[in-house]
Amino acid sequence: MFNIDDGWRVVTNLDFERASGFANAAFALLKRTQIPPFPVYFELFYTYATGANEQLNADVNDLLSRGGPIPIEDASLLCEKYLDIKDMDAKLREMSAVMVRKIDNVNDAIGNAMVTANSYSGSLQQASGDLAGGIDEDALKLLSSRLLKETRRMQDMNRRLEMELESSKDDISLLQRDLDEVRKQTVLDPLTRIPNRKGLDEQLAIEVTQAESSGLPLSLLVLDIDHFKAFNDTYGHLTGDQVLRLVAQVLKANLRSRDMPARFGGEEFVAILPETDINVAISIAERIRQAVQSKELLKRSTNEKLGRITLSVGVAQFQQGDTPVKLMDRADKSLYAAKSSGRNQVVSQNDLTDTPGSIGVA
Ligand code: GH3
Ligand code: MG
Ligand code: MG
Repeated sequence: MFNIDDGWRVVTNLDFERASGFANAAFALLKRTQIPPFPVYFELFYTYATGANEQLNADVNDLLSRGGPIPIEDASLLCEKYLDIKDMDAKLREMSAVMVRKIDNVNDAIGNAMVTANSYSGSLQQASGDLAGGIDEDALKLLSSRLLKETRRMQDMNRRLEMELESSKDDISLLQRDLDEVRKQTVLDPLTRIPNRKGLDEQLAIEVTQAESSGLPLSLLVLDIDHFKAFNDTYGHLTGDQVLRLVAQVLKANLRSRDMPARFGGEEFVAILPETDINVAISIAERIRQAVQSKELLKRSTNEKLGRITLSVGVAQFQQGDTPVKLMDRADKSLYAAKSSGRNQVVSQNDLTDTPGSIGVA
């Protein structure tokens, strides 16, 4: 009847058909891989069917190319990797709904208390008027019992308000804890469970300010897996992901509690080493490089030997006046030098000369 209605119906029908197509494809995949149709796995395959996330599709293709049923652990890993953000959004939405409900309750309780307080004050005023006009014994008794009743009602109201405020205080501190948890998740890389780029940026800014004011040394490592693209191309992205986890573990195991490892992005990691001068930082970098190189990789599911992977590392030390970007830049230049002088080695800012290409490596 109305144009706008017709238009709306056309768009909705199209959406419905498209979405049904994705949903059917997702169901077919769940059936084929024998993964139970829980909402998370459905969402994984639905997203796959839309083709909206290239990396997700590459990983799912990896799994599908093996043929036959897919182990649920592998599917879970992908859900963790790609659907994490949504979980957090849902959590935040849930938390803000609780917060709104809580504020409504407190508002109601305060509103009720104000109504009671007003009517109490009205009763008192009336009583004072009655008393001023002179009053006999019976009327006085009636008045005092009415005032007593009103006072009890007032006390009840106050107690209820107090309880409501007390329970709100508890709920708010629980919400505070949840918010802290969500905040922690936003600075964590879901794959390797070490801080992500955001966590790194925040901490580096703090450490640079501290080094600036304390005068204590501060060093930075930038570590990059060598020829990782070739590794992925040979053994698949999921196996590559396991390697990223391994490197994060080695990194953590070789750092002190005061240090901070982070996944900068892709196959690149960073370590912040506070109160550490460049020579100590170089030896830590060397230890990490050797630890990674010493591991012979074995694919657990097939016992296939995957050889070894190596790291190139750039090391820089904070200099007065450095910004985080400047410090990162020197570490990056050192990493670049390590790559161009053959990879699988540690190069520090001390080895750099001004002319790129003529690098002296100790
Ligand atoms: P180089 O020695 O010069 O560092 O070579 P490279 O192949 O490691 O470097 P390049 O920058 O050419 O490729 C990086 C590769 O890292 C590309 C991509 O396949 C892989 N990669 C990045 N992020 C991920 C990830 O989250 N998982 C997996 N499995 N691989 C990733
Ligand atoms: Mg690399
Ligand atoms: Mg890289």
